[in-house]
Amino acid sequence: MMGNNSHIKLALKTESLSKTFIKMGNTTIGKDFLLIAGPCCVEEEYTTLKIAEKIADLGIQFFRAGAFKPRTSPYSFQGYAHQGLKILNKVKQETGLHIVTEALDIDIIDEVAGVADIIQVGSRNMSNSRLLKKAASIDKPILLKRGFSATLKEFLLAAEYILYAGNPDVILCERGIRTFDSHCRFTLDIAAVPSLSELTHLPVIVDPSHAAGRRSVVPALCCASIAAGADGLIIESHIEPEKALCDKEQTINIAELDKIRRQIDFFRQAH
Ligand code: PEP
Ligand code: MN
Repeated sequence: MMGNNSHIKLALKTESLSKTFIKMGNTTIGKDFLLIAGPCCVEEEYTTLKIAEKIADLGIQFFRAGAFKPRTSPYSFQGYAHQGLKILNKVKQETGLHIVTEALDIDIIDEVAGVADIIQVGSRNMSNSRLLKKAASIDKPILLKRGFSATLKEFLLAAEYILYAGNPDVILCERGIRTFDSHCRFTLDIAAVPSLSELTHLPVIVDPSHAAGRRSVVPALCCASIAAGADGLIIESHIEPEKALCDKEQTINIAELDKIRRQIDFFRQAH
């Protein structure tokens, strides 16, 4: 189906390994649905804590916010950086939420690992082999996002770098690819979910927010992802989306997040 997969070894399903489970707190990623929510970037402390509290109140256990942001334009807000990590640490202490945040480069990954429970390697870094190798040396699960022009084979080979260098805990994230159409920010490759699940033992989650680019489309993409068999979702959410420092157009509010959360429970019970 994907042509010759002979270079992919460790990421492929085998008879003895059909699914990777990653235990974190009382969640077994790969088995329990992994719902991750939070603002695109770490906001100022008060706002970040407020968002985190609301998310925790919904029973969601994973909080994602970027301290270091890979922005397309150098004129856009680049994130609160080191200060952002400190704020995330406070979120962790005060709410007990598991922290997911991005390591933009090898220089920062150890500092990020001091706070993060899951380290995100973003789309723009999917092919950064030095970062992938370095990520493998960290004793934390890696959330690897698909490059927006990467084939599934390239995506799995990027995961293979991390597995080969010694970190077995990789979570794959489909987040939309570039196609000819621009009705949404990217085109969510929903077929990637069952296709990956056929091939790999690694958990596969979906980021509907970056694919959609606008919040009205996000709930439908969440439902589609669940129907396609995704192991989780990562959803950009904020108490006041219009005031978000980054990616506000695609960010949903807490009431919308709660609705999606309830839909997930409903779908999963029906399964
Ligand atoms: C993000 O998750 O905030 C992000 C920048 O995503 P991506 O790397 O998929 O563009
Ligand atoms: Mn974003």
